[in-house]
Amino acid sequence: MRQGIDHEEEARKFARRILEGTAVEKYLEYEEWSKVIEADRLAASFDRWLLIAGGGGKGFLQYEYLHNIFDPSWSHSIRPPQGVDVISKSRDAATIVNYYLRTAEKALDGIPQDRLAVTLYNVLYLTLEPVWYSLNLPPSLADTRTPTHTVFDHNYAVASMLNVVCNGKVGGYYAMIDYPGVQKFIAGRKAGDMWVSSWILSNVVWATGYRVAESWGLDTILTPTPRLNPYAFKGLVNTIAKSTLYAVECVSGVPEELCNLASRVYGLPIEVLWNQPLVPATMSLVLPRVYASDAVEVSGKLLEAFRIAWRELYELVKGRLCGKGNYLSAFLCERLVSLSEVVSEPPQGLSIAVVNLEKVYHDLKKCVIEESSSACEELGLTVDRKALEKVVKEVASGDSTKEKERAMREIVTKLLYHLVVTRGAELARKYGATVRATPRSFWYYSGGRLESVAGVDTNHVCSICGDEPSALKLSKTFKSGGRGFEDDYSDEVWSYIEKTVGRTLAERERAEFRKFLKPGEVLGPYCLFKRASYLALRDTVSFLSTDDIALEGISQALQGEFQVILERLLQSLNGMNASLGKCRASDVVRYLYVGGEREVRDIGEKALECGLTYDEFVSRLEYSVREACKIAVRSGIVKSEELVEYAVKLLGANDAVRELIESGGTTTAVNLCNILVPQTSYAILRSDADDVGKLMSGWSPIGLDNYVNTLVDHLRKHGEVIGSTEVLENAERSYRASVELSRAIGLGDRVTVSPAWHNAVSLSLMLTAVEDYRTINRRRGMLVYSGGDDVLALLPVHSAVAVARDIRKNFTGDYFRKVGNVVVTSTLVTGRSASLRFVNLKDLMSQEMWEAYELLESFPKRVTWTWEDRQGWKDARKDSIVLSDSRSGAIAVLPNYVRDHRSAVCDSYELVLNLLLSVASGLLSKNVPEDFEDFVGAALDVLKSEDLETIARYVLRRNVRLRDENLREKLVDQLTRVPYGVRGYVGDSRRRTDVRVFPFEIYVRTFRVVRRYL
Ligand SMILES: [Zn+2]
Repeated sequence: MRQGIDHEEEARKFARRILEGTAVEKYLEYEEWSKVIEADRLAASFDRWLLIAGGGGKGFLQYEYLHNIFDPSWSHSIRPPQGVDVISKSRDAATIVNYYLRTAEKALDGIPQDRLAVTLYNVLYLTLEPVWYSLNLPPSLADTRTPTHTVFDHNYAVASMLNVVCNGKVGGYYAMIDYPGVQKFIAGRKAGDMWVSSWILSNVVWATGYRVAESWGLDTILTPTPRLNPYAFKGLVNTIAKSTLYAVECVSGVPEELCNLASRVYGLPIEVLWNQPLVPATMSLVLPRVYASDAVEVSGKLLEAFRIAWRELYELVKGRLCGKGNYLSAFLCERLVSLSEVVSEPPQGLSIAVVNLEKVYHDLKKCVIEESSSACEELGLTVDRKALEKVVKEVASGDSTKEKERAMREIVTKLLYHLVVTRGAELARKYGATVRATPRSFWYYSGGRLESVAGVDTNHVCSICGDEPSALKLSKTFKSGGRGFEDDYSDEVWSYIEKTVGRTLAERERAEFRKFLKPGEVLGPYCLFKRASYLALRDTVSFLSTDDIALEGISQALQGEFQVILERLLQSLNGMNASLGKCRASDVVRYLYVGGEREVRDIGEKALECGLTYDEFVSRLEYSVREACKIAVRSGIVKSEELVEYAVKLLGANDAVRELIESGGTTTAVNLCNILVPQTSYAILRSDADDVGKLMSGWSPIGLDNYVNTLVDHLRKHGEVIGSTEVLENAERSYRASVELSRAIGLGDRVTVSPAWHNAVSLSLMLTAVEDYRTINRRRGMLVYSGGDDVLALLPVHSAVAVARDIRKNFTGDYFRKVGNVVVTSTLVTGRSASLRFVNLKDLMSQEMWEAYELLESFPKRVTWTWEDRQGWKDARKDSIVLSDSRSGAIAVLPNYVRDHRSAVCDSYELVLNLLLSVASGLLSKNVPEDFEDFVGAALDVLKSEDLETIARYVLRRNVRLRDENLREKLVDQLTRVPYGVRGYVGDSRRRTDVRVFPFEIYVRTFRVVRRYL
């Protein structure tokens, strides 16, 4: 908003420019516009968490900072860049959106008028905001007195609330859908199984909500927000192309510009993001009264939408497989078709909770305005009448009954949204309908007895999930084939496969079959469906096996920046004439690090091909690479500096200890040969936000009073009042009244959640999910699941710690999320705990996943750290990471940061990365843990901080392999930059268990976890 401009006139021009020449242009002349404006006003009172006292008064406040909505002590200027004419640029934005609307309309030729109108509305909904940012325009504040949300937050929130308000009345439904048991659904034997399961959930749950939005507008979806949401773009592109919702590419017939816009927003091709499981399996919607006659009908319709969404996915997979003509696809196509009766229906229903808003509103009015205690009780509200009366007095602009009633109505409207989003499930039981998800039964009742559904064999159980009856059993035998001994299918299985495919298979084809469907595997109908989906979709993703992930970190570096190292290594292997059984070592290394065209790498397969057992193959391979590298370094064909540079980049470390490694010359550099060796391990990362639920329910980490004081102070200090200062005084009065209201109705220290607040959390989660993908992909990991707060990923071992650090930084590394250079919304100001588990390729993946999860819940989520500084004892909870190793059983828990309010006293990741680099380069002996324990023994718990510091430095010093006294001291300094005496404990303060002392004891534990990979 700018002073001195006729806003209404400017808005009208803007709207005309957008809608001109489209089928929805007529709405510009809508005669009931005044009713819409009235509805907009009422909807806006939902949207403000602030009570606007007396309408704000005269005067205008100029203010150009956006504050983090959760912790407003962080702010960012949103002044447009110098020399940018905002008015003229906003006209450009309108012209671009108009172009999208017109091209979409052309593509939609022939669809019914009402459908066309909604789709065009959705085009407008989805493109306006990114177009604005793509022109480098910052968002403006919706209201300068509440600088925590932007005009976009406000407008999108009001659009949603218009579903609730109709003809000045409140009605409609709030609905939550959820697919319970995500963990179980995602578990699998292969990385591909897991990825595809997660992709299925993201897509099917999203498609359920999107089907509603296709008819009623995207504003019906509250969370995950459709704003800047790659899946919303996917839906829209597919609506325009009149295809299924799951298409994974920008199909022809769709305005190409839509895809380009989306790609520009994320700085990534949009198709790449469509392939990522970025949407959680849970959603909330707000539906207009006319959607259904009651809450039960709402849940029925949503459930039906879910079934249709699942069926469409089934059709897509079937279509892709059956059209492929490849022998593997042909076989799975046949199995899928014969199971269609089962798998074309979802494995279970959804959990649904629907709240009838009119009913809650009715009781809320009775409770707050009519002081009915039974209504309050029904709603679970405790109202402090005196305090409430005071609030009303504060916000009413006069003493008249009419004014007081107006203030009361505003209060009730605000409370309705807060109550529904924070206690929806509970309210649905009293004021709506709930449905519990029931798993699909594999039995039916017929002729007086239970029969199993067609195509399943109830005598055997699925070996992936352990739950379903078998739909495909691949009995195995142990055969001596042309390439040594291996597991194979039995003759019966082969003849069944060949009969289905319609011809005999060549040995190469048989090998492909065995790789995809392991001999001995038993697959239930849904696990088979997932495997089939993976086959149908895998062309669209770059790598998927755990072998790939294990190798990918090194492989990427050696194919890119450090290609020269790979070439010299291969040269050296050739020079050594190194062989691995029947294979030349250099060929094997080339295969593992360079790979073939779209080939899924398989270490076991390669071992077989070379005629060696797996273990023999791996140990000979490791030895050959290490030796070849050492020769290359010693003879100078690989330069020490290059290898050091490679190690620093691979680990994602900073430069702190680099100089020290380089000072060691060739003698030190040869140690780094260890991190050129092909890996047979990878890491599982599980990360989870500490307090997103609390943020969603209006909690601020700085407390309500502080929250308000901070904002008021900033407005006074940096705002410029134009005209009467009444505007500022009223704002302050209104802030205080809002705090009193929270207390008067028993919300305690929480802000009443408004749609704009809710929208900000959801947008932040959406953009964080995309950022997390980017972080993981940059270091060649695989994102298995992401919902913006929790993440599950598989990572190469060497870069795993750096990824964990960056994932943590995606929360509060910066306090605002950006699109390009434009600040768009707040980041979530809460800790983010993680579990990083190093596992071997031969470990049982689903088991290790659980282990990683258990460790996350047992340590980082329950740990408290205490330390002492000049002002006394400090403590901090959660926000930690647990590192563990499946083979050695070692566990280490570290705080992400040791923080003193806003400034981090210590960044544990930097310490750990320095440690990794020091160990990898041999600057630090790998025996530090044993040495430390010999020295300290059982005395650890009783030692004072100062003693520990002395011992730590002593043990480190004598394990450093640097001759120069000064350099040795320098390294010890780098490794011990941490406040001493930080202690962590799990459990409550009375029953402290598992006490850990930072940094040294934790170093020792960290050492144990990671030293095998260095
Ligand atoms: Zn199964």
